[in-house]
Amino acid sequence: MSEPTIEALLAEGRTFPPSEEFRESSLVTDVDVYDEAERDWQGFWARQAQQLDWFEEWETVLEWDLPDAKWFSGGRINASYNCLDRHVIAGHGDQVAFHWEGEAGDTRTITYADLLDEVSRLANGLKSMGIGKGDRVAVYMGMVPELAVTLLACARIGAPHSVVFGGFTADSLRDRINDAEAKVLVTADGACRRGGTIALKEIADQALADCPSIEHVVMVRRTGQDVAFVEGRDVWYHDLVPQQSADCPPEPMDSEDLLYILYTSGTTGKPKGIMHTTGGYLTQCAWTHKYVFDLRPDTDVFWCTADIGWVTGHSYIVYGPLANRTTSVMYEGTPDYPDKDRFWRLIERYGVTILYTAPTAIRTFMKWGDEYPDRCDLSSLRLLGSVGEPINPEAWVWYWRHIGGERCPVVDTWWQTETGAIMISPLPGATTLKPGSATYPLPGIGADIVDEAGVPVGIPGGGYLVLTRPWPSMLRGIWGDPERYFKTYWNTYKGRYFAGDGAKRDEEGYYWLLGRVDDVMLVSGHNISTAEVEHALVGHHAVAEAAVVGKTDKVTGQAIAAFVILRAGNEPSEEFAKELRDHVAKNIGPIARPQSILFTDDLPKTRSGKIMRRLLRDVSEDHELGDTTTLADPGVVAGIKAKYLRDHPADEE
Ligand code: ATP
Ligand code: MG
Repeated sequence: MSEPTIEALLAEGRTFPPSEEFRESSLVTDVDVYDEAERDWQGFWARQAQQLDWFEEWETVLEWDLPDAKWFSGGRINASYNCLDRHVIAGHGDQVAFHWEGEAGDTRTITYADLLDEVSRLANGLKSMGIGKGDRVAVYMGMVPELAVTLLACARIGAPHSVVFGGFTADSLRDRINDAEAKVLVTADGACRRGGTIALKEIADQALADCPSIEHVVMVRRTGQDVAFVEGRDVWYHDLVPQQSADCPPEPMDSEDLLYILYTSGTTGKPKGIMHTTGGYLTQCAWTHKYVFDLRPDTDVFWCTADIGWVTGHSYIVYGPLANRTTSVMYEGTPDYPDKDRFWRLIERYGVTILYTAPTAIRTFMKWGDEYPDRCDLSSLRLLGSVGEPINPEAWVWYWRHIGGERCPVVDTWWQTETGAIMISPLPGATTLKPGSATYPLPGIGADIVDEAGVPVGIPGGGYLVLTRPWPSMLRGIWGDPERYFKTYWNTYKGRYFAGDGAKRDEEGYYWLLGRVDDVMLVSGHNISTAEVEHALVGHHAVAEAAVVGKTDKVTGQAIAAFVILRAGNEPSEEFAKELRDHVAKNIGPIARPQSILFTDDLPKTRSGKIMRRLLRDVSEDHELGDTTTLADPGVVAGIKAKYLRDHPADEE
C-alpha cells in the first residue's frame, strides 16, 4: 500500500472529521444539540422519552434524592410493546428484525410480526407457570433467537429477567439464581460453540441442585443432545410455546418498575447485580442507538457482535435496536469458525452497514492478519463502533482502514453495565474523531474529571471520571444491597457518581479513557495509567497484546510489570524485551519503562474478553489469587504464574 503506515499516520497526529458524504445524510451534523441539551437537560430527556409509546404520560420527569433517581415516574409503559407491537401496528410487521445465523451456517429470518407472535406465546406460557409481574426469570442460553424472545416475553408480563452468560459455570449460575431468587429458568439442551457443544442443561442441573427458588425450567432444543428431564419441573419450549395463544396484552408497567437484573463482568472483583428499570432505560437505549449509530431503520443492517449475556447485548441487540425498528444480524458462534473470516463473511452476506464490536476482538483480528477481511466484500459498511475497553490507537486505525475501508467513522463508546447505555461517544456526523478517544459526553450527560479530593482538574488534565448528574438509564441499585450501591458509586465524591475509571482530557476537551483506577500505577511519585503503557507496547509492530500492572518496589514505590503476547513470527528474547522497554521509554518517558517483561501466549480475561489485571497483580505480588469465577480460562493464570516464578525467583523470599 502506498498510503502512510498506521505508525506514520498516528505519529502525524491525524484527526478524522466526518466526510462530506457521511454528513450529507447524517441525523446530527450540528454541535448545537449539545448546547440545547445543556440548557435544559431534563427537558432534553423528556423530549427523547416522548419518542416512545406511553400508555400513560409521566407526572414528573425526574425525582432525584441521591442516590435514588426516578425518571418519568407515574408514566405507564411496556418495553416489549415499544420494541414490537408499535412497529407492527404501524405497518412494519414484514420488516426483518433479526437475520439470525447459527454457527454451522443454519439461518432464520425473523420479522417483527414473527417476533411479536412468538414473544406473546412465550409470555402466555410463562404466565401459565404462575409467573407474573415482579417474579424473576433466570436465563441461561447460547445466542439463539429464543434468547431475545425470552427477554421480551419477560418484559411483556413485567417479570424481570436475569440473564447469565452461557459460558459461566454451574457455581456462577447457582449464585446468580439464588441471589435473584428466580422462579423459572429458561435454558437450552446445549449451545453450539466452535464446532462442538456446551451442555447447558447438564450444567444448569448441577446448579439447580442447590436453587430452592426455581419452580420450573423451560428448555429450548438447540443441539439435540441427551438431557435429563425432571417431570413436573422441566418443560420443552416447543411443547410449551406453540400451543399458547398469540394474544398477550402487554402489562402497563410503571416507568420505574424493574426491567432486569444483570451482573457486571467481574473485571475488578465480585460481580454486582445491577438493576435497571423501564422508561428511562428504554429512552436512553433508543436515543443513543439512534444517534450514536446514526441509524436509518429503513435501510441499515446493524450488527452488534456482543453476547446477550452482557449489557451490550441487552441494550444494543435487544432493547435499543428493536425500539428503533432496526434490522439486525444475530450470530451464534465464534469469529474463527469454520475460518477466521467468519465475521467478514457475515457482513458480506447480510450487507451489514453498522458494526459494533470490542477492542479485544479487533486486536485478535489484527493478530490473525489482514488477509481475512481483505478477501471479503465489506463495502456495505458505513459506520463502525467499539466498546468494552479502551481501544488503542493502532487498533482504531487498523479497524478504520482494514474493516471500514477508510470510509467509515469509528465511534468509541464508553459506558458500563451500571450506566445502561452509552455515555461518552462521538456523534459521527458532527464529531471530529481522534483514534483512541471516546471524544465527549453525549448531549444531556454530565461528566467531569476530578482529583483525589474531588476537585475538577480542568482542561487539560487527568484523574477520576465522575458523572455529575443522574441520567435516564442509570442503575437503580444493586439487587439486595442498597448499602453497597451507595458506597460503591456515590460515596467517594460528594454528589457525584464515581465510575471507577481513570480518564484525562486533552487541550480540546476530548476524553481519553485510561482504564480502571485500581489499575493505575504510582511509580516514583508519578501516576501512570496501564492503558498508556499498554498502548505504547501494542504500538510496536511485533506486539499483538499487552497488559501491565504495578508491583511493589522498594525503590520506586511501584514498578511496572508487563505481560506481552507477540505477533506470529516473532521470538521472545532478552534483547527483544530490552527493545520493548526502550520503546515504551521513548514513547512515554523513562519513568514508564517496564521493569520486567514476561512473554506469554495468553492473558487472563473475563468471559466478556476483558483483561483481568488484578490477577496479574496478584501473580506479580505473589498473592493468593482474588475472585476467579468470572475468568474465562483458569489455566491461563496458572501458566503465567509458573512462568513468572521461574523468571523471578528472587521475589519468592
Ligand atoms: P466489574 O464492574 O464487575 O469489575 P466491568 O467493569 O468489566 O466488571 P462492565 O460493566 O461490562 O463490567 O464494563 C464497564 C467497564 O468497561 C468500564 O467501567 C470501563 O472500564 C470499560 N469500558 C467500557 N467501554 C469502554 C471504552 N469505550 N473505553 C474505555 N473503557 C471502556
Ligand atoms: Mg465495572
